[in-house]
Amino acid sequence: MFRVLVGEYIDDHAIAGLTSQKDVKVDIKVGISREELLNTIHEYDALIVRSVIKVNRELLDKAKKLKIVGRAGNGTDNIDIPEATAHGVIVANTPDSNTVSACEIAIGLMLASARNIVAANNFIKSGKWEREIFVGNELFEKTLGIIGLGRIGSLMAKRMKAFGMNLIAYDPYISDEIFKRNGCKKVETLDELLEASDVITIHTPKTSETIDMINKDNVSKLKDGVRLVNAARGGLFNEEAVAEGLRSGKIASFGYDVHTVEPRSECVLYEFENAITTPHIGATTYEAQRNVGTQVVKQVLNGLRGEIVETAVNLPSIGREEYAIVKPYITLAERLGKIYFQISKDAISNVTINYYGEIAEQETALVDATTLKGLLEPVLKEEVNYINSRSLAEKRGIDITVNKKDEKYKNYSSALEIVVISDEGKKIQVVGTVGLNNDERIVSIKDHDVDIVIADNMIYLSNNDVPGVIGAVGAILGKENINIATMNVGRKENENAIMLLTVDSEVEKGSLKKLRALDQINWAYYLDLSV
Ligand code: NAD
Repeated sequence: MFRVLVGEYIDDHAIAGLTSQKDVKVDIKVGISREELLNTIHEYDALIVRSVIKVNRELLDKAKKLKIVGRAGNGTDNIDIPEATAHGVIVANTPDSNTVSACEIAIGLMLASARNIVAANNFIKSGKWEREIFVGNELFEKTLGIIGLGRIGSLMAKRMKAFGMNLIAYDPYISDEIFKRNGCKKVETLDELLEASDVITIHTPKTSETIDMINKDNVSKLKDGVRLVNAARGGLFNEEAVAEGLRSGKIASFGYDVHTVEPRSECVLYEFENAITTPHIGATTYEAQRNVGTQVVKQVLNGLRGEIVETAVNLPSIGREEYAIVKPYITLAERLGKIYFQISKDAISNVTINYYGEIAEQETALVDATTLKGLLEPVLKEEVNYINSRSLAEKRGIDITVNKKDEKYKNYSSALEIVVISDEGKKIQVVGTVGLNNDERIVSIKDHDVDIVIADNMIYLSNNDVPGVIGAVGAILGKENINIATMNVGRKENENAIMLLTVDSEVEKGSLKKLRALDQINWAYYLDLSV
């Protein structure tokens, strides 16, 4: 039974979702004193906070059972993330809770301003009827410039692609892969985006670099009749400069959810009918408000149950759609990683993780983390989790290299290769892929081509390539009451063959000894690949 302490307010629905879990006992102590918290935290597996409770070393040192801290909200200033990481504690927030809502308001403002919906609405209600004065623009086949291709910018790209828009984006801080994944042409400079876009939407945080991104000096670079949208933060487009652009007709419309100063009753933009606005209601949806609670509960339950915590902040976060794609590779990686220390006792000097084909286009940091978790687990057991696996590996002096390759591995559309080099320079390579039915397969081991669906219990052996070996192996395992489920043989010129078997039960040392005693067998290992 996991014990969860809810130390600050979360939505009632979320509480109900948490208390209804059979494997969880919840204590709701909103406003708990620091003293009580420090005295009782050792009893809990999870802690849910907002922004008041300080999760620092003082607390973490006492939190012997703590696996996860859930932060209902975005900012994590009250949580010492490096300290939590060092304690192997996952910290997860709810950054996605209002992403869809914020994206949708930006789209709403874009459509409403392109089609004069607000002005037309007001016109009709004043008792008049006319069409010609409300001629708008289609978005179809126009160029949309997205500034900031993070969570909301990426969603925007995916959705506006469906409108048939051409997408370009400016975000110097993210990898080319993200542009590719979101179907956006990358532009190297802001000016390039300003000059090429029919519609511009901004989704950056407010920083010294992003304040006044459109300003009096660069407004002339905009295309004539450009439409602007800002549902990110007030002041990213200078209000005076936009007003000037609207007045001259350079800017056809501006849809904005955010003001430089909020709340406010006056703004230089209010005189323009084609500048439509809302009072920072991007996140004001029932869904977003409920999402904060349900998302934090989901992450906490995942963390407790050893499943992937998508919004962990002490790991790169991953979007829901991307997660669905990489998920099978996350477990494949852990299983492949577990092989090394079950067939070798040599310390590792470096690990190379190679991604081939389609999986190479994805955000794979979680796969890296589970590879390393799998690798270290046979020697570190529960000390290692996917939060601390990289830092533990690095502390052990292991060099980690990750390569993303455009080409395929053999004929597999996606593949993951792990190459481990020992201190003595010995190499052990293994390659896996995920099949159409999400079955995890080993397709190469120590450079022998094989193809076998991975099972929790496997035997890996080397044999002389002579007749009768399979029968002899089968006979011994039969006597030992070990049922062989599948078997695959890998052959290589001038080398002994290898055999991979999946079996229905664990293999005792005694049974392995009998296999090893066979003349035709050079070595044999039992692989526990359960995750
Ligand atoms: P995010 O952190 O996921 O993405 C921000 C992106 O901006 C990152 O990819 C970053 O690399 C990029 N960026 C940073 N500086 C840049 C620069 N100088 N030029 C170009 N790109 C730059 O953030 P998000 O969750 O997508 O949120 C985006 C914005 O939306 C934030 O300002 C957030 O506060 C705002 N927001 C508004 C509402 C609302 O109610 N209207 C709701 C949610 C979020």
